[in-house]
Amino acid sequence: ADRVLGAINTARRPLLVPVKLERASYDVLIGTDLIRRAGAHLSALLPQKRVMIVTDANVAALHLPALHAGLEETGIQHETITVPPGEGSKTLSEYGRVTNALLEAGVERGTTVIALGGGVVGDLTGFAAATTLRGLPFVQIPTTLLSQVDSSVGGKTGINTPFGKNLLGAFHQPLSVLVDTTALTTLPAREIRAGYAEILKSGLLGDADLFEWCDRHAQAVLEGDPAMQAEAIRRACAFKATVVADDEREERKTNGRALLNLGHTFGHALEAELGYDGRLLHGEGVSIGLRLAFMLSVRLGYCAQADLERVSAHLDRLGMPARISDTGEAFSAATLIRHMQRDKKMRDGRLSFVLVRGIGKAFTCRDVPDDAVADVLRADGC
Ligand code: NAD
Ligand code: MG
Repeated sequence: ADRVLGAINTARRPLLVPVKLERASYDVLIGTDLIRRAGAHLSALLPQKRVMIVTDANVAALHLPALHAGLEETGIQHETITVPPGEGSKTLSEYGRVTNALLEAGVERGTTVIALGGGVVGDLTGFAAATTLRGLPFVQIPTTLLSQVDSSVGGKTGINTPFGKNLLGAFHQPLSVLVDTTALTTLPAREIRAGYAEILKSGLLGDADLFEWCDRHAQAVLEGDPAMQAEAIRRACAFKATVVADDEREERKTNGRALLNLGHTFGHALEAELGYDGRLLHGEGVSIGLRLAFMLSVRLGYCAQADLERVSAHLDRLGMPARISDTGEAFSAATLIRHMQRDKKMRDGRLSFVLVRGIGKAFTCRDVPDDAVADVLRADGC
């Protein structure tokens, strides 16, 4: 144990984002080698010196040995459940497999479930933890940039159904979240860019300082500078924490947590049209959707053209997906609008969008005319 504490003291201190909610408070720790040091970070928090780890096969091969080593040094008993990688694991059948494995292992109310992986593992594991024995303690160790900045804050967990994405789920706040930037060293560049889109989204929707910071430092984040990555993640998590604290269960009729969907109505339509088959990552759809949301806001007279141009220039300079043509696929405006109408945000036949009055100034708008959306899609090459 002394050796472990020594290692913690000499390593760079993790950054910390407190998440303060009505029903629970926890910290997001952000730094290097946190998977390796998870045992030391968690041992005081765990109700029982026993954990169940859920991970996917890709992450298991790359990062599970470090987690096991850290847990063993601190005398934390562990077992591991591995699921196949990819969105296909957020299903009722995989949920059944994981919960059966937890019960078969004889988990008790104090046994903590650790999610080690991207958003898929986090959502599936969180839902299994939320429901097994009516709720087991839960720790998130997100390993993709997207999950580090997005699923790490807010406590949403769940799985998909044939009726749509994330339709079965629960709010289940973690005991703690360990964001290890060292995990990002094995993540493909395309996944890093996809995660960056959600950081940029936070800046564009409500944190103009974050956008300015991104404009200066995003290149270093994309290139893998760990200190810059940690700072970007800290800012994005801190921003999301303020939004979530204000609207924990997405109950506000306007603004609130729904603002986090900036760029997502367009992004989801592109994803849905391609059938979630991996041709377009979620973050890539968001990246294109962010620019489209600015275009729509300009078209409706809410936002200055100059802000749209700044966003376009930012995306282009970084080589981020920015236009529908960047997907390499052809879409029809009418089909995309039909997907948007099917999206749950539709009300009284009018499309609902998150729009902007400028960078960092988003608002929800419940009656956007179809023809304005169609104009924007056509202007972007539909
Ligand atoms: P993912 O979990 O499928 O991970 C993407 C790929 O990267 C997978 O193949 C995975 O095996 C691999 N991988 C993960 N970490 C790696 C690493 N360090 N090195 C190499 N490969 C690694 O996808 P994602 O983008 O992380 O998450 C998407 C999911 O997250 C969606 O299902 C979405 O609904 C959900 N999500 C949830 C929330 C929330 O608040 N709960 C927020 C955003 C997204
Ligand atoms: Mg998203």
